[in-house]
Amino acid sequence: MFRAKLTVLLAVLLAALACFGSAYQPSPKLVVILIIDQFRGDYLERYHSEFGANGFRLFTDRGAYFPACYYQYANTLTAPGHATIATGAYSPAHGIFSNQWWDPAQKRVITSVEDSSTKLIGGEVEGIGASPHNLLADTLADELRLATQGQSRVYGIALKDRAAILSTGFSANGAFWIDDDSGAWLTSTYYMSAPPRWLLAFNGQDSAKKYLNQEWKDTDGTLLASTKPHNFDDGKPVSFYELVGSTPFGNDYEFDFARELIQQEKLGYGAVTDLLVISLSANDILGHLAGPDAPEMRAMALALDRQIGEFVGFLNQQYGQGQYWLALTADHGVAPTQSTDKQLKLPGGSPSSSELRTQLNKDIGARLHKQADYIRSISYPMVFVNSEAFPPNVSESETEIYVAEAMKANGFLNAFTKEQMGNGELPPTSLGHLYLNSYSPYGGAWVMGVPMPFAYNATSKSIANHGSPYSYDQHVPLAFYGAAFKPGVYRDQVEPIDLAPTLAVMLGINKPTSSGGRVLTEAIAQRTRSDEPLLTAPPKPRVPKESHP
Ligand SMILES: [Zn+2]
Repeated sequence: MFRAKLTVLLAVLLAALACFGSAYQPSPKLVVILIIDQFRGDYLERYHSEFGANGFRLFTDRGAYFPACYYQYANTLTAPGHATIATGAYSPAHGIFSNQWWDPAQKRVITSVEDSSTKLIGGEVEGIGASPHNLLADTLADELRLATQGQSRVYGIALKDRAAILSTGFSANGAFWIDDDSGAWLTSTYYMSAPPRWLLAFNGQDSAKKYLNQEWKDTDGTLLASTKPHNFDDGKPVSFYELVGSTPFGNDYEFDFARELIQQEKLGYGAVTDLLVISLSANDILGHLAGPDAPEMRAMALALDRQIGEFVGFLNQQYGQGQYWLALTADHGVAPTQSTDKQLKLPGGSPSSSELRTQLNKDIGARLHKQADYIRSISYPMVFVNSEAFPPNVSESETEIYVAEAMKANGFLNAFTKEQMGNGELPPTSLGHLYLNSYSPYGGAWVMGVPMPFAYNATSKSIANHGSPYSYDQHVPLAFYGAAFKPGVYRDQVEPIDLAPTLAVMLGINKPTSSGGRVLTEAIAQRTRSDEPLLTAPPKPRVPKESHP
């Protein structure tokens, strides 16, 4: 009698415990998503033989590695790339189609994240803060926060505000980026009313200054750059962002901050999984200056290989092997330089934005018999249209058509208007599909041009660029490392939108609101729960037959 009562009591207790415990299985302790700004997918193969054992090879040799990951949209830029990775969706869903755009309400160009209802905090600069308020879809981080009712903690780090903010989402506990001039770490009042004390202490410890007056040398001792402060020819000082940010010291500085954040906020020590997104900006800053095939870019990749290895060593120390998951990807690739194109007899060319603007105005002026500035700005291959300059009887969508026609007559293979893209009036081709995925309701009137392959707007400050619908801009790494992933090289073509739904299903949470990505089931180990052994099914306990005394 007593035993029967005890059994019932135990069953009730266990059921109650199961109710509490089954809402969310906390595994692993921490997920780290590494996004390298401007890191083309082929770099992992190009430098593979030179990498060490614990950096990129952790992903390519011991992780689940997808060497054919391509963005399937045309606007291959930083803000859209980070939003796409986080939301698992393209621009029509998340709204971020460029780094900045014309805002018809404020009648000025705004950045993808600036938010006049917030303020910058953390450094000595004052100014308008930033937030994810332009996102139209939620993120993997938001879903993790929802699933745990805010218990999971989420942080984003980058030298660039848009990269730290858009990669994490609405409900992040914090996103941190730097003040370009001083290098001090900043955040905005969107996340917190005052900066954490540890951040102020970090900024006060000359954490940035220690990377000034340094020499960056190649592995064979060749001097590649110095971070000695100096001025541009026009007398303006070169900012910390440009000076340190274009060397591996920029990535060192980010990893320093990441380690500090992990320790101070005790990330990965709660009852549920935490998430940290680190976007490494230095590769993009140098990439624009040097071009993808320069010896500096090789040295940067090798330095990052070592830095990732050191960071992974730190994670092992903090949590132990197998207690965290890593994901690796990039926001976009990059085109070869014009001189490389010339050398290899590839097409290309560097159309000048100011010459294009003059020519577009001339052509439209001739058609309308009125000279005016019909263009607000050009962010090649995108043209923002000054609809107000057109005669009042021309509708806004017609002003876009005037500009698109003029673009087609001036070197573009094709040009699609915002109206056409929004209505899905695009050719039923793979190129049309890419532009369908680049639409956003933001930005007033605009036209996206289809440039010639290898053509982009090169300048003296930026000899290489990205932002085209071509493979060199779309190709990025995609790889996972951790006990939950089945190591292997998976050569099917995949997309960066697959990252969020894959991690979501493994964490046992909903995928982001608008994600259209595929769950990469081929790379998932059979069991992912922390309380069950991976890869091998546990033996079933033998149930004894009921005995009737
Ligand atoms: Zn860039």
